[in-house]
Amino acid sequence: MLTARVRNRRLAVASRAIPRISTGWALVRVRLAGICNTDLEILRGYHGFHGTPGHEFVGEVAACGGSGAGHRAAERRWVGRRVVGEINITCRGLGLRPLCEFCRRGMPTHCARRRVLGIVNQDGAFAEYLTLPLVNLHAVPESLPDECAVFTEPLAAACQILAQVPAAGRGASVAVLGDGKLGQLIVRVLAAAGAGVTLHGRHRRKLALAAVRGVSTETIARRTGSGSGRGQRRFPFVVDATGSPDGLALAIGMTEPRGTLILKSTFHGLW
Ligand SMILES: [Zn+2]
Ligand SMILES: [Zn+2]
Repeated sequence: MLTARVRNRRLAVASRAIPRISTGWALVRVRLAGICNTDLEILRGYHGFHGTPGHEFVGEVAACGGSGAGHRAAERRWVGRRVVGEINITCRGLGLRPLCEFCRRGMPTHCARRRVLGIVNQDGAFAEYLTLPLVNLHAVPESLPDECAVFTEPLAAACQILAQVPAAGRGASVAVLGDGKLGQLIVRVLAAAGAGVTLHGRHRRKLALAAVRGVSTETIARRTGSGSGRGQRRFPFVVDATGSPDGLALAIGMTEPRGTLILKSTFHGLW
């Protein structure tokens, strides 16, 4: 199969054998994959990842691992199905017992032994095939085209804001920084939940995309030097989705006293 590989901060196309799968795992033929800022950070050295990046995808199950009756049942259920997948491969997916502390506490996305598709110790979606445990898969409804389903993973990241900070929903006044893909999804999720959202970005074309109900937009001026935040409107909730350390500084300056700052950026090199 063809696959894109990262090695020493360079991306190259390579030819590799189709991966083998063990019991409880699926071989997934990738139909469509999304490029995320995290992928660009991986090229800059994030997580020291070597291998195939890519964690946003929609695919089709080509085969299930194992043998015997359980395997036949899994193949009947999954083969040919269009799927998206949880990117964190945790104790459960790895078949490890006892569960680690985080899995036991109901936070499997922070599993101590986790691998992460295309990010930590697991080849990702920029290839013809990827592998994931069956427990990670979600079937995609037929009515949903690939071009929508491929956004499931970043959309879930946007929805996680309301799971952790429910007060950022109905009636809240929220500033979202960053007009990229994640920022676009976040403003839609928060506006749908009834928040009044202001999207701050630097790209007129991308800001125009966010002209949906409940969302207003503002252009971030390219400022240099110190004094950031002076005269800047402040918000009780600020979401940083810029993907850059500069954005974080700006977000801090825009947060009201006792306000809540929500970090949704991934970047290499700050900590
Ligand atoms: Zn991503
Ligand atoms: Zn675990």
